[in-house]
This record gives sequence, C-alpha cells and structure tokens, in this order.
Amino acid sequence: MIYDRIALIGLGLIAGSIGLRVRADGLAGEVVGTARSAATRDTALSRGLCDRVTATAAEAVQDADLVILCVPVGAMSAVAAEIGPHLKPGATVTDVGSVKRAVIDAVGPHLGDDVHFIPAHPLAGTEHSGPEAGFPELFENRWFLLTPQSEDTAAIDRLTRLWQALGANVDAMEADHHDLVVAVTSHAPHLIAYTMVGVADDLRRVTDSEVIKYSAGGFRDFTRIAASDPVMWRDVFLNNKDATLEILGRFTEELFALQRAIRTGDGDMLHEYFTRTRAIRRGIIEAGQDTAAADFGRGAPK
Ligand code: NAP
Repeated sequence: MIYDRIALIGLGLIAGSIGLRVRADGLAGEVVGTARSAATRDTALSRGLCDRVTATAAEAVQDADLVILCVPVGAMSAVAAEIGPHLKPGATVTDVGSVKRAVIDAVGPHLGDDVHFIPAHPLAGTEHSGPEAGFPELFENRWFLLTPQSEDTAAIDRLTRLWQALGANVDAMEADHHDLVVAVTSHAPHLIAYTMVGVADDLRRVTDSEVIKYSAGGFRDFTRIAASDPVMWRDVFLNNKDATLEILGRFTEELFALQRAIRTGDGDMLHEYFTRTRAIRRGIIEAGQDTAAADFGRGAPK
C-alpha cells in the first residue's frame, strides 16, 4: 500500500483508470471519489472505480493523503478553491491535466504551505470519456510527466512509486517545456484532425455520403481523434494558447512548402520529406510507444 486514502476529484476516463488499478492492486487503503453529477458518481461506484463517493470535493478530500484532480483543465481553479481549506496538513495534491503552466497558475494559489503540490500529466488516453471509459491497463508502458514546483523529494518519490505501480514510466520536466512538447505531440495533431474532419463534413454536402462510404484509413483515424471530448479539448487549447499557436505557425509554413512542391511538380522534395517522416514513425515503434492506448487514442500514435 502506497497511500492510506486517495481522493479522486472527477470520475471520468483518467480517474476511472487510476481507481480501477489502485483498487485491483491494493495501492491504497481507500479510494474516495467525487464528480459533478449524481449519475457519474453512481456509475463510478457501480463500476468499482472507488470504494465510496461523496457529493462534494470538499468532503472527498477529508483525511486524504493524496488528492488527484481529474477534471477538465478549465475546472481546476474552482475545484482547488473548494478543496483548499479542507486538505489534511502534509497531504499531496496532484493533477492529470493535459496542460501544466495554466494548471499551476490556477491551482497553486489555493493551496496552503503545509500541502505538497506536484503537477503532472499521464501521456495516455483514448477518445472515450466519462465513468464508463476507464480501464486498469490504460497507463501500461506510457509516460507520466511530473512538473515539480519544489525539491519535495519524499512526496515526489511516493507519487512516482504510485505511477510506476500503475504501469507508467515516470519522468520530470519544466512546465513550459512540457506544454511545448505536448503541443507538438498531441495538441496540434488533435486540432489538425478536428480541421480535416470539418473540411470533409463541408465536402460531404457536395459529394453526398461518399466521404463516409469510402473513408480510407487516414480519414478514419482523423474521425476517431476528432471524436474526443469537446470540453476537454476546448480547455486544452484555451490554456495552452502560446505553444499551440507556435506549433501551428510552423505547421502552416511546412504545409505551404509541400503545397508549393505539389504545384511545381517537385517530386524530389516530396520524396525526401516523406522519407524523413517515415524514419520518425520507425523511431516511435522502436521506443515501444505504438502499441498500447495512447493520449491520441487507443492504438494510435499520440
Ligand atoms: P472525462 O472522462 O470527461 O471526465 C471528467 C470528469 O470531471 C467527470 O467526472 C466530470 O463529472 C468532472 N467534471 C467536469 N467538469 C467539472 C466541473 N466544472 N467541476 C467538477 N467536476 C467536473 O475527462 P478525462 O478524459 O478523464 O480528463 C480528465 C483530465 O485529464 C483533463 O484535465 C484532461 O486534460 C486530462 N487528460 C485527458 C486525457 C485523455 O485522453 N482523455 C489524457 C491525459 C490527460 P460529470 O461527469 O459529473 O460532469
């Protein structure tokens, strides 16, 4: 057992996957959960995501030695304000939000000096959401990134042990660097998928149902990614604005270069470009990051 009591705030895909694995492997004495709606809390309890649910986050954190914030990034500040006065002295507060700098700014000011705050992000997920979506193997062989705010060695080591027990590989990095890395690997690709599906939807009005009927692998993958939760992704883009815009700017430049190569019939440029990108794909497979569920959707590169 690593913690006596873990409180999960939010009971969707990520919290559910944590709760199921923690309970199955006896990593905590008790898992207490809370979510906004009674329907979510009932489903979470019946699926065994937690031992007990409470109606409010303030009640859920009572006597918890670890509190994990598993709500959309835009909801973190209000949740932190609610739990701040009710945290046990010496407790660790962490989160799983896809953006780190904005979460640090939103949560930090609500926590007292006697609490360890360790912001974090598991690079694992699917396009499914809600209390039915979690499964205990979600974090197996995925990365879990910590963005610690202090040299809190004992608290960081304990949280690291928990995530390793959940199956993840743990690494630490600076928050702004994290936000840039995930803008490249996850956030911009999601926006591009949303855009491509939007374009096809416009086109469908011209070609009737052909876009769906003959949808080939590439487009099907985009539709799966573009089925991801709208609230979560709205909050990601609103809260990782600078890094996403930086990557999208670079993306647009590259797109124009490829567009020009197609227009001018520059086959050498296209061949060279695609050879380079193919090598990146091989690197991902060699790193073992292609098989399990990824932040970009199950079985797909993130
Ligand atoms: P999810 O399945 O949609 O679950 C979100 C949970 O938060 C639900 O239990 C929901 O309760 C609760 N909630 C929503 N808005 C709230 C509010 N304003 N106040 C209090 N509770 C609220 O989400 P998820 O996919 O687990 O994502 C949770 C966090 O993990 C997000 O910060 C996301 O950025 C991060 N993350 C997601 C992925 C992914 O691929 N999905 C990967 C890595 C990290 P109700 O059901 O009652 O509304």
